[in-house]
Amino acid sequence: MNRYPLDQNVNFLGQTPLHLAVARPQYVQTLLEARHDLNAQDKHGITPLMYAAAQNQTDVVISLINAGADIGRRDTLRKRSFLDYALARGHWDLVIRSLQHIGNIYGTEGIDTAVQYVLIRLLKSMTLEAEERRNYFSRLLEMCENVNFIFGDSHLGVTENNMLHYIQGREDGNALVKAGFTGFNQKNSRGQLALMSQLTMHRLKAVKFCIENGTQVKHQDNNGHTVLFPALHNFCSSDKDRKSDDVEAVILLLHSEADTLATDKCKCPCSPQGCFPAALLSSKIGTLFGGDVVWTLEWLTLLEEHRSTKEAKTNLLSILQRYIFDELEMMHVCCHKGSSSLSEFQNDLSQTEEDIREVQEEEEELIAVLNNDMADLALESYESLKKLWMQKIKGMYDASATKRKEKEQKITDRPRVNNYSLHFWELALT
Ligand SMILES: [Zn+2]
Ligand SMILES: [Zn+2]
Repeated sequence: MNRYPLDQNVNFLGQTPLHLAVARPQYVQTLLEARHDLNAQDKHGITPLMYAAAQNQTDVVISLINAGADIGRRDTLRKRSFLDYALARGHWDLVIRSLQHIGNIYGTEGIDTAVQYVLIRLLKSMTLEAEERRNYFSRLLEMCENVNFIFGDSHLGVTENNMLHYIQGREDGNALVKAGFTGFNQKNSRGQLALMSQLTMHRLKAVKFCIENGTQVKHQDNNGHTVLFPALHNFCSSDKDRKSDDVEAVILLLHSEADTLATDKCKCPCSPQGCFPAALLSSKIGTLFGGDVVWTLEWLTLLEEHRSTKEAKTNLLSILQRYIFDELEMMHVCCHKGSSSLSEFQNDLSQTEEDIREVQEEEEELIAVLNNDMADLALESYESLKKLWMQKIKGMYDASATKRKEKEQKITDRPRVNNYSLHFWELALT
């Protein structure tokens, strides 16, 4: 074999004999003995180790590692390592066995970052069967030196998350605790606990798990938002498949001492003390993607049932204040900007003090009208306020129905398609 410089032979893809032999372990051994280049790169910088990982050839991967293949190398195409090649095709067992093997050779410290990386990938993966997932997760946790590690999520633009932000349910959570996880009240760079991320993702089981394990439900993030902000956004949204879980999450939070009166740091005349969580309830008639105002009534009923009339009244006054604010066509300088949009509320508060002052100076008269109205309303009983709000909602529905009818009328009044086609043929013939 040494007589022929075979490892110099590459095909048009830049593949060497070792690249092509990874699916046949018996040939790989011969090529390794003949000292073929272990780290030869094809035209995309992909090495035989990456080929073997992509093809789920665990024994070949182990042989290449034993022979000294570069385990940290990345391709030139997308900067992927051999682990990425295996993960992209779901070869979890190969990944874990390779890491264990590398740990045995180079020591566990050397694989810590890689183990953490694979753990995060596993937690985010949605394609594994429960049994497989449990098996891989516990094997990886065994290899992980510190299960309380924190990491960034460039997709969400946040740093200092921990694994609890990504658990998919109770099983993941139990495995974490068993491995020594304690970060139930660890904040990320937005000041948010895992409970908030889990609520945003509609994961009721993970939400329950966080609460049962001592997460502080009253916690406020850097913007002053509590978990009720994403919870109430979900609550009023029109996603039918998740509705039952979203409602249950809100009831669970009400039973767990969530603070419905904890306001955020906004300074908008729609809510001068800061936005209440109820601001994330829609104040409009539902569209295909938006929430519906009728859920404000459901929220009030829950407060009456699980809290007190006093708490319900404060919530209702905040809802009415926002309604009057919008009727006066005033400009929002708060986080939700008048919608119940989660994406908007997730952004950091972007308005400067100066912007806010400018708007408020311009709207001074309207603010006075709003304040007067609110002072009058505060004197009313909860029951009469509720009646008033129901009338306003009925008014919104009536207006929306009229608008829809007008639209339908316009469509039926249009010239029929036949007329258009006739016209078209006339044009074509002239
Ligand atoms: Zn506002
Ligand atoms: Zn706000």
